Amino acid sequence: MTAIFTLFSSKRHEAPEAGGLACTDVTPEGFLFDMGGHVIFSHWEYFDQLLDTALGGGPDAWNTLQRVSYVWMRDRWVAYPFQNNISALPKEDQIKCLTGLVEAKVSNTVAQGRPKNFDEWILRVMGPGIADLFMRPYNFKVWAIPTNLMQCNWLGERVATVDVDRAIANVINNKEDAGWGPNAVFRFPTSGGTGAIWKGVAKLLPAERQRYGQKVVSIDKDAKTVTLDSGHVYQYDSLVSTLPLDITLSWLGKEEWAKGLQHSSSHIIGFGIRGECPHGTKCWLYFPESNCPFYRCTVFSNYAKLNCPADDAKLPTLCKGDGSDPESGEAKAGPYWSLMFEVSESNYKPINQEQVKLGGAAGTWSDVVRDTLVGAINTQLMQAGDEVVSIYHRRIEHGYPTPSLGRDEVLDKALPWLQQHNIWSRGRFGSYKYEVANQDHSLMLGVECVDNILYGTKELTLAFPDIVNAKKNAELLYTKK
Ligand SMILES: Cc1cc2nc3c(=O)[nH]c(=O)nc-3n(C[C@H](O)[C@H](O)[C@H](O)COP(=O)(O)OP(=O)(O)OC[C@H]3O[C@@H](n4cnc5c(N)ncnc54)[C@H](O)[C@@H]3O)c2cc1C
Repeated sequence: MTAIFTLFSSKRHEAPEAGGLACTDVTPEGFLFDMGGHVIFSHWEYFDQLLDTALGGGPDAWNTLQRVSYVWMRDRWVAYPFQNNISALPKEDQIKCLTGLVEAKVSNTVAQGRPKNFDEWILRVMGPGIADLFMRPYNFKVWAIPTNLMQCNWLGERVATVDVDRAIANVINNKEDAGWGPNAVFRFPTSGGTGAIWKGVAKLLPAERQRYGQKVVSIDKDAKTVTLDSGHVYQYDSLVSTLPLDITLSWLGKEEWAKGLQHSSSHIIGFGIRGECPHGTKCWLYFPESNCPFYRCTVFSNYAKLNCPADDAKLPTLCKGDGSDPESGEAKAGPYWSLMFEVSESNYKPINQEQVKLGGAAGTWSDVVRDTLVGAINTQLMQAGDEVVSIYHRRIEHGYPTPSLGRDEVLDKALPWLQQHNIWSRGRFGSYKYEVANQDHSLMLGVECVDNILYGTKELTLAFPDIVNAKKNAELLYTKK
């Protein structure tokens, strides 16, 4: 029997629980924040069943939410996807977008070969109007790398393309058209945030086979050992690792390959606010413009009542929405609501992390927190006088695996090479493929990898992202139906 040693996710190296990037933190005041907006869209019945087994099925365990998603630009909400809703823009922007779309449709019919990079893909599919107004600025904010340095093989269901006839008809009919994409309806745990799912899954597994709070510092592929910072050495036959691939490769002397992989870091910033939420049923919102540092904001209190403290919990105001001193520091009851923001960082897009003091009892925070407050007011998410009762900030070094131009060349060499040495590097950063880096994908990468080790079966998610992302195909492959 093969001994498989799995390096899998502890929340931080020192954290005593499962979760990884899909964990949930709780502020001292009792507000929950995920590591950015985590929305479940499952491509596998296997994944759905696991979630039901981990948390239980039904409305006690899960809220079912309708995606209500908008783009904030030109001082207004434009329904998502942007490209189907240009009728909401000022007339001059509508003209630029529509003429660009027609231009793209015409030039695309005569274009030779595949687009060489993401920027060319954007121009071919959407034209220069939508490119300049939304796609280029928004994608730079998300990926923290210019679009001409990204490849376009990862696209598919991840970026809404354009039906030109529908876009023109929507403008003429002045119609809002929000129904697109794989996550129009999604579910979220009623309690404990996204992290509750993975703590639930960990409970299903034998406790004596799990270790948390320990940091791996090296792998010896020849001796087949893994060494922890405590000095403890584990022996393995086969190693499954979710450690970032660039780190594993550097440890194993493949620095050149490691350098060919790029990632961006993520800052997650959260605010707990006293009062009634002014944003209706909005879920997540996109921000392409330069009036705020974040590319996305989630109205996290809308996902589950228990993402905020109880209405009758008494909390003092830490500072006002503009970061200034509150009227009083007296503890008062709620209700409460919360916003969760994501800001990307890379060498192309550095983030000022100087420490700044906010007003009242809010204390000292990284500059990006203050910039987020200012941005939230600029984009009308918050008001200057709002009572901020909780502040959260966490920086994640490996946030997004970048689909960079050189990525596939490295992956095609590195993953088989590691496998020859009995190391299966899998998961969001283990296999570095953004197109299969969500929770359902990461889980199936693990399931298929273990099947591969034990039975020699093919790892379909890793090899064929496009096929597994076509939901029907995924169901056919993995269910008896
Ligand atoms: C901003 C953001 C938004 C996201 N949105 C969604 C979404 O909407 N829907 C969705 O399904 N998924 C989403 N995800 C992805 C989801 O978080 C991942 O799919 C999932 O967490 C991947 O799990 P994993 O086990 O592959 O890797 P990870 O969660 O990255 O786990 C790897 C673990 O290894 C640990 N580690 C690293 N180095 C060491 C070491 N030397 N020693 C010990 N441990 C180490 C890390 O601390 C980490 O805990 C999002 C992720 C981010 C960052």
